[in-house]
Amino acid sequence: MALYNNSAYITMSDSAEFDKLHSPGATTPHSGIYRCEGCAKEIAANQGNPLPPQNNHQHTSAQGTIRWRMIVYAQ
Ligand SMILES: [Zn+2]
Repeated sequence: MALYNNSAYITMSDSAEFDKLHSPGATTPHSGIYRCEGCAKEIAANQGNPLPPQNNHQHTSAQGTIRWRMIVYAQ
């Protein structure tokens, strides 16, 4: 789970960008922290760069494929 220590620097948003799932290797739409829907691994990604590929980490069959969801949007 992403951590922070000063609530003055982070705020709640209901942007639809947080609802989107992104495939491994897809272009990162916004810089920020992304979480894998299958295993909860978190990574930082920069806008315009590819998200980590399918071989970034291993899943069990129950965890399915890697699907990245943005959980913190860096402005
Ligand atoms: Zn994962």
